[in-house]
Order: sequence, then structure tokens, then C-alpha cells
Amino acid sequence: MPIKFKFSDFPDGIHELTFLADSNKLDLGSNFFGDVALDVIMDKSSHQIVLKCEAEVSAEFECDRCTEKFESKVSTNFLLVYVFDEASCGIDDVNCYFLRRDENTIDITKDTKEYLRLAVPMKNVCSSECNGICPTCGKNLNYEQCNCTKDEINPVWNELLKLKENK
Ligand SMILES: [Zn+2]
Ligand SMILES: [Zn+2]
Repeated sequence: MPIKFKFSDFPDGIHELTFLADSNKLDLGSNFFGDVALDVIMDKSSHQIVLKCEAEVSAEFECDRCTEKFESKVSTNFLLVYVFDEASCGIDDVNCYFLRRDENTIDITKDTKEYLRLAVPMKNVCSSECNGICPTCGKNLNYEQCNCTKDEINPVWNELLKLKENK
């Protein structure tokens, strides 16, 4: 189910378009779910079409601190430029596409998917207040407290300290 539209239906000028696309059918990735909401502001003129895009979708993550699953929104915005004259795109313009005069549709599926995937944060924490897991006993400290003292020295270090003392 591609996200595309027929630009030839629109006169020159500014147009607002909205799309809803099932993230499953877009094959976005298994941690994404629900609909991708895409808002596009199209600026169409005789020589080019500029699309200002804003996309948002829900996703499930695993907390880096407590390893519990949690849901969060992933959103991104990006700009796409479509030109009717191939020479108008610079070599480095990654988001510039050439439209042949006989084309009348623009497909933004691939860009939307790529930008959403790039928008996934590297670090995921279920809440800034997440207490994580106790490194000593493995209890989830969001649900229960443990009796491990925080400054208790890891047994490995104890052994090393003993070695040092015996020197
Ligand atoms: Zn957490
Ligand atoms: Zn503990």
C-alpha cells in the first residue's frame, strides 16, 4: 500500500495533504504499529514541487534500564524536492528527484519509511524516572526494593583488593 498521490490534479500553489497508512502494510518493521500519519505541505510551481513532510507512528521499545517493553511515538520531518528539469538537482541533493513530463504521481513511501527508521532513538528509556534493574540481585527497582546496598563492592573487586593487600 504505497503512499502516493496524483500531483497533476493540483493547480500551482500551496496544498495541504494528509495520509494515513497502516505501518504493517508499509513493512516498516515489527516494532512499529498502528497507522503512519503523514502531513504534507506541497508547494507546486511550473518547474518544481516541494513537499514539506511530517510523519509520526507508534512503536514498541525495550527500556535500556529495566528491559520492560514500552510504547512511544516516533516522529520526523523531511523535505523532498521534485524537479521537471533533471539539471536542477545538484549531485549532492539526496532528496531531489527528477519527474518526467509524462509522470503524474509522486510516491513518498520509501522516503517516509527511511526517515521514520532514522528517527528511532539510539537510547530508549521507559521514563526518565526509571530506576532500572539492580545489578546485584536483578530485581526491577520500579516495582520492588531490594536490600542490596548501592555501594556494596562487587565480589570480583574484593578479590582484587585482597591481592593488592597481600602484596
Ligand atoms: Zn525502564
Ligand atoms: Zn538488589
